[in-house]
Amino acid sequence: ATPMSVMVGVGKAAEAGVLIRNGEALQTASKLSAMVLDKTGTITLGQPKVTEIVLVDGGLEEDVLSLAASLESGSEHPLAQSIVESAKERGISVEQVESFSAIAGHGVSGTVGEHDLLFGNERLMDKHGISLGDYVAKSQAMAARAQTPMYFSIDGKLAAIIAVEDPIKEDSILAINRLKEDGIRIVMLTGDNRETAKAVAARVGIDEYYAEVLPGQKSEKISELQASGEIVGMTGDGINDAPALALANVGFAVGTGTDVAIESADITLMRGSLHGLADAIEVSRATMTNIK
Ligand code: ADP
Ligand code: MG
Repeated sequence: ATPMSVMVGVGKAAEAGVLIRNGEALQTASKLSAMVLDKTGTITLGQPKVTEIVLVDGGLEEDVLSLAASLESGSEHPLAQSIVESAKERGISVEQVESFSAIAGHGVSGTVGEHDLLFGNERLMDKHGISLGDYVAKSQAMAARAQTPMYFSIDGKLAAIIAVEDPIKEDSILAINRLKEDGIRIVMLTGDNRETAKAVAARVGIDEYYAEVLPGQKSEKISELQASGEIVGMTGDGINDAPALALANVGFAVGTGTDVAIESADITLMRGSLHGLADAIEVSRATMTNIK
């Protein structure tokens, strides 16, 4: 394409709220054969809300939520924010956390008062030898309803399951359908658990997904697809998406996401809607076929 036609294409995309950093990205977008989508904050809103609390040994929901929120006040993860917010909404006090530590792809640990606390997924509980018994089945049932259940342990013993739900963006289903009609292979990647990933993928019409992907493994998936001959787009919003965004043939950042993601990407979806992906690909194809 001529520099002039590329400029026109970049301008057209901008009108649709799709910010293309350079002409090369616009040209490569026409050749994409696969699109990798992060789940949380990309397909979903990235604003999880607490939906259910299951207590293991009775006691008071308020007491458990107070400890969990105190622990999570040390974390900036969206899951942590949902727990802290839920406690605040219910007027539950949040205490100081000590020896706080976050383990990527697992969860968090710390001490509140005299209690040693752990909060996260099955992998975190396994790592600390906390037995989950029948609660694995209970948690899988919650996950099958597209919720993200997390285990909370107090002093080495499972105390509760707290589940959150992150709503799917209103237009994700239609936007994903448009990509499919454009002949693009769609792959969803998430750090979330298998059952939740399966439920969300089914709701938005995605057949191919990889769950429980550790931060750092996302870019490996991009390399694998490239090695198999695909020209790969990656769309994400988080810090842990940045390496994959940089490695992809074209990286798309969700405009409502983190600065690190935006800086690592070639294209920014200013409106946060996945329709921007098909907009970019369609403008790019028109640019490349009209003027050679
Ligand atoms: P993603 O953001 O794609 O869900 P992460 O790697 O950040 O991926 O998280 C993977 C899983 O680790 C989460 O689904 C959750 O079970 C657990 N986890 C991570 N951070 C926290 C946290 N602050 N509190 C509780 N659980 C967490
Ligand atoms: Mg995300």
